Amino acid sequence: MVKLPVLKPIDGSAGRTADWRTVKPKFIQDKCTKCLSCWLFCPDIAISMSENVNDGFPVFDDDYCKGCSICAEVCPRDAIEMVPDVGE
Ligand code: SF4
Ligand code: SF4
Repeated sequence: MVKLPVLKPIDGSAGRTADWRTVKPKFIQDKCTKCLSCWLFCPDIAISMSENVNDGFPVFDDDYCKGCSICAEVCPRDAIEMVPDVGE
């Protein structure tokens, strides 16, 4: 597997982006081919992929995902579904 750069999101002036999210990604692992598109296009660095974590499948950062749906739009396998974020 290709080694990917590791970046970390930080709080912005409005706090953590997840604080104003209304929808969030639901990952459907059976459909995922680890193509990296969601990782590449997420504008908030809220997706990480590492061969050492989750068997190389994407991991979504619940603190910094802002629910923009870009990952779901770019996924060629429909492996990401946006669902209402009802909080914890
Ligand atoms: S919904 Fe937007 S911010 Fe959240 S993981 Fe997908 S692309 Fe990133
Ligand atoms: S874009 Fe879809 S298929 Fe590609 S790694 Fe992300 S979830 Fe998996």
